[in-house]
Amino acid sequence: MSLESHDTRQQLSLKPNSPFLPSMIKEILSSNSIKTLVKYIPPVLHLTNSVKVLELFIKDRTLYALPIVDSDTCPVGLITRNKIFEIFGHQYARELYGRKPIIQFIDVPALIFDQEKDIDDVARILADSGPESIAEGFIVTCEGIYVGMGFGHDLLNAITEQKNAHLYQLAHYDTLTGLPSRMLFQDRLIQACSHAVRKNSESLKILVALLFLDLDRFKLVNDTLGHQMGDILLKEVAQRLLSCVRQEDTVARLGGDEFTVVLPRVKNTQDVAVVAQKIIDRLALPFRLCEHEVFIGVSIGIALFPLDDSDINNLIQKADTALYYVKEHGRNFYQFFTDEMNQAMSRRMNLEKDLRTAIESHSFFLFFQPQIDISTGRIESVEALIRWQHDGNLISPADFIPFAEETGLIVPIGEWVLRSACQYGKKWSDLGLPSIKISVNLSIRQLRQPNFIEQVNIILNETGVDPKILEFELTESMLMKNLNETLITLEKIKKIGISLAIDDFGTGYSSLSYLQKLPIDILKMDQSFVQGIDTEGANLNIINAIVGLAHGLGLTLVAEGVETDSQLNFLRHQKCDRIQGYLCSKPLAPNTLENILMRGSCLGNIQE
Ligand SMILES: [Mg+2]
Repeated sequence: MSLESHDTRQQLSLKPNSPFLPSMIKEILSSNSIKTLVKYIPPVLHLTNSVKVLELFIKDRTLYALPIVDSDTCPVGLITRNKIFEIFGHQYARELYGRKPIIQFIDVPALIFDQEKDIDDVARILADSGPESIAEGFIVTCEGIYVGMGFGHDLLNAITEQKNAHLYQLAHYDTLTGLPSRMLFQDRLIQACSHAVRKNSESLKILVALLFLDLDRFKLVNDTLGHQMGDILLKEVAQRLLSCVRQEDTVARLGGDEFTVVLPRVKNTQDVAVVAQKIIDRLALPFRLCEHEVFIGVSIGIALFPLDDSDINNLIQKADTALYYVKEHGRNFYQFFTDEMNQAMSRRMNLEKDLRTAIESHSFFLFFQPQIDISTGRIESVEALIRWQHDGNLISPADFIPFAEETGLIVPIGEWVLRSACQYGKKWSDLGLPSIKISVNLSIRQLRQPNFIEQVNIILNETGVDPKILEFELTESMLMKNLNETLITLEKIKKIGISLAIDDFGTGYSSLSYLQKLPIDILKMDQSFVQGIDTEGANLNIINAIVGLAHGLGLTLVAEGVETDSQLNFLRHQKCDRIQGYLCSKPLAPNTLENILMRGSCLGNIQE
């Protein structure tokens, strides 16, 4: 949505050909073939770059969909406005997908009709395939060759005039809750804003409030109690929302658990706040779903017309931004849009852009934190840790890795980490330094890449490093998702010769049965247990149990975050194998580590 409104900002205006306006198509009534509905929308060749298609949608915001044809002008599909903005929702998506041919993004076959087809038949088929199809339109052909498109609104006008109320209902109302659908919501919003413009010109100060709602924990209900219960819940939510507003207000369901409320003729923000709070309070009451009692919450983002924006698309985007803010800051409250949010949004977009270029601009680098064998004091392994030098500041991974995970940038970043770690491994073995292992943290996103194993092999070949010196660290929660699928990938990794470690052990699900199933070599006990050694007696038994578990399964146990002598002594007494932490070494720059390794691999300061 943001891409759309930045480029074509305009004042509230209704073009004569706007799909929201009822157009009088009298002549339709006189003919019953869809030929009368055909509009010639220049088709797009199936091999066109997808970013070019995006630009076409940005240029003409009345377009719901574009026909895609092959070189013989035979239709091959339809790309919708929603789909293209979903693909390019992130700034970096232009670089990732921009050059891909549009044909790759068509996942739903278009509805194609011959121009001689009867209007009623087409309407029936469209209605059967769902309201979305009516909104998006359909392709019209003559002897298999593309001749134009038909649009749902024109079709609806035709059949509405024929008093086909059932089809009108299907297109404008959500079948589950009976609330207005997206199409009618937009229509009502435009009407409310147009009314406000007229009244404000008579110097009455009238606002229109747009509320975007997202249910908290709805997914949990769906996942645990099933879709049927989820549907019952949505119906009940719709009823409660209606009970919070006036007759003239609109409550709509956009899809999933997303709702909107349009409050026309509002005098001040206080009135809006009262409604928002009422909605939160009413949805906070328990829901009875057959024998289950469930609690959900709701996050609400609010934008005001014309205070926040007088352009409908921008207004929608701002309500959405405010909603995003609520979801990021704890959920279950309402928030009016502010300019600071826009700034925060643009900071995020900049961060994304900077992260994207960080690899090419060589502003990432690696530090290495040693793992020491408790009995010998020898460096057995080093964990590769990424650092980011940005605008003269050293940025901690905690500040950008979660963001990289969220945006998917973790995949190229993770690949860079692996490649760099391998380059160092090769360099150190070429220098004849004592052999140590290098461990690399993997993200679930990387592991799920269909070509992950292929990528690893490419990097190994490219760098010439011995795979036996590599260890991959994975967290418990990563492993528990799609365990069987993950298991196959892990076995392939082991086959290459790379060792596997479970990171932050003890903080995730800690299902002990999976430990036996997985081809792992090392357990890294989470630092919270180690930190507890000096403070809470209860932890000692747990550490004892973890050591026993690791050794019982023939795994090496590494204690993370060791900072004091008493922690070390306790761990030594428990026969823990290795330690990592500030007591022996903080993460080291590569040349510092090389200097240490040149003198031998012993840090020497932890011997008894
Ligand atoms: Mg780690």
